[in-house]
Amino acid sequence: MTDPAFQKCINPDCGAEFDCGQTLFKCPQCGELLDIRYNWDKIEVPDELREFAKRWANRTRPLDFSGVWRFRELLPFCEDEYKVTIGEGQTILQQNDAVGEYADMQPGCLCLQYEGLNPSGSFKDNGMAAAFSHAKMVGAKSCACASTGNTSASMALYAHSCGLKATVFIGSGRIAFGKLSQGIDYGAQTIQILGDFDDCMRQVQNVCSELGLYLLNSLNPFRLEGQKTIMYRIIEGLGWDVPDWIVVPGGNLGNSSAFGKAFGELKQLGLIERIPRMAIINATGADTLTNLVNNKNLLWNDGRVNQATIAEYYADLTARSFSPHTCASAIEIARPVNLKKCLRSIDICDGVVRAVTDEDICDAKAIIGRYGLGCEPASAATIAGLRHLRAEGVIGRGERVACVLTGHPLKDPNVTVNYHKEKQGQFSNPPVEAPNDFDAIVKLIK
Ligand SMILES: [Zn+2]
Repeated sequence: MTDPAFQKCINPDCGAEFDCGQTLFKCPQCGELLDIRYNWDKIEVPDELREFAKRWANRTRPLDFSGVWRFRELLPFCEDEYKVTIGEGQTILQQNDAVGEYADMQPGCLCLQYEGLNPSGSFKDNGMAAAFSHAKMVGAKSCACASTGNTSASMALYAHSCGLKATVFIGSGRIAFGKLSQGIDYGAQTIQILGDFDDCMRQVQNVCSELGLYLLNSLNPFRLEGQKTIMYRIIEGLGWDVPDWIVVPGGNLGNSSAFGKAFGELKQLGLIERIPRMAIINATGADTLTNLVNNKNLLWNDGRVNQATIAEYYADLTARSFSPHTCASAIEIARPVNLKKCLRSIDICDGVVRAVTDEDICDAKAIIGRYGLGCEPASAATIAGLRHLRAEGVIGRGERVACVLTGHPLKDPNVTVNYHKEKQGQFSNPPVEAPNDFDAIVKLIK
């Protein structure tokens, strides 16, 4: 392709290329995932990342205000006239020594990237800004997604700002209340399927191809382009420096896929000198990546991933009627769509994978709530995972770590309330009952 941006199949034995005007989501020739690729010599990219800081001076302009489009030269797949923004990406990187101490990090070494501060309360808005821009570019009228919750909330919000009809597929009873309330409130048609996320994923793909709906799952390569900007903002938050480690929850593996791609491209462009390492954290009740990478030695292998290993693993899941279970509903996924791209990121970032229990997740979440701005359960897997990697000595006490907190604490109030009220963990802070009596109340507070 001679276009500045194009789509390319990640399978090196296929390598089919398509222009960005097409809506595909999977390679029509071999069924593999598609990537957005760039001919960088045809694109004007700033010489230094700190050049992007100048955009702050123009923040009355929506594209310069957006935490995604401020970095538009690094995801240059569409013209400005199609770009969609609702003010996403105004997120912060907070140094948090108290949470760092819990994870056994030296003061000054742990930073938390709060993606819950996005308009719909999760990191998904980064990807939706990019994907809806593509949807507008191709003239889509209607869109759909399968969702554990955050995707549906984000998609519903963006669909309205672009005038698209939105349909959400969710697993019956498998969605956090806060997230379900958002999709409905933002006006999306919500279809609850009797099944889990993986069932919804299969259905939505079939429905989208039958009805010609624009698919907004992380299978959509344009979404991952938007999610790359989370890494640019971490670098920005560190004064345009690169951390030693990125820690990210692993669910459908869109974030880890996007982050590795971001760093690979920045290195290729000479905008960073070194690539940070990446730790991807599963929940033990949804640990496909951990099993495949750590136990079955699955590797990127220059794109020639051992398909038989994956097929055998999934066949075993089917034979056992395995359904993933974790309180971290956002990462309750057994067949991650972006598995192969994630393997590529592990290769690029010399990554490691770990799984943490729901107990560890809830304790870490309570600490992030007490000393930070709070987060949803899946996000807390990062701190729980970091703690494990510190105990193992994989991450050094004085290394600089950025944990990506993907969603807002109000996304899943049930997990929070149950943890504290039912005294489920060592950091539970249950409400105290008091009689309607002044003296008794004063005595309790003293
Ligand atoms: Zn292909």
